[in-house]
Amino acid sequence: MKALITGASSGIGRDIAYYLASKGIDLILIARRKERLEEIKEKVRKYVQFYADKQGYLLNPNPEELEWVIEGLAKRRQQYVTQYCPCRIVHGDPEKDRKIICPCAYHVEEIETDGACHCQLFFKKN
Ligand code: SF4
Repeated sequence: MKALITGASSGIGRDIAYYLASKGIDLILIARRKERLEEIKEKVRKYVQFYADKQGYLLNPNPEELEWVIEGLAKRRQQYVTQYCPCRIVHGDPEKDRKIICPCAYHVEEIETDGACHCQLFFKKN
């Protein structure tokens, strides 16, 4: 017997996949996780551009580095539902973690003193 499971990368789909696999059933798995990540990345990209424009910052001019941070933010959002900074540790303590939701509590000072935020996402205009 074979089973086709959609949404196999998370939630009920994943649980059913594990259950059926444990019963020895051959599985064909379809997961949209990557598509979902791409959707989130586009939302993050629009948001950070909007925020940079609003605050008078530049986004990282290096396309690869910018992509890395955007993907990191999207992965955090996919995992935690909250856009935590990809360059900082999520502690699981809501009080502490609130400070690292992008744009984090530290970025204004970092941009002012270092010219860019810790992740090199937002840059100061010259
Ligand atoms: S360091 Fe930059 S990317 Fe990271 S949360 Fe702060 S503003 Fe966002």
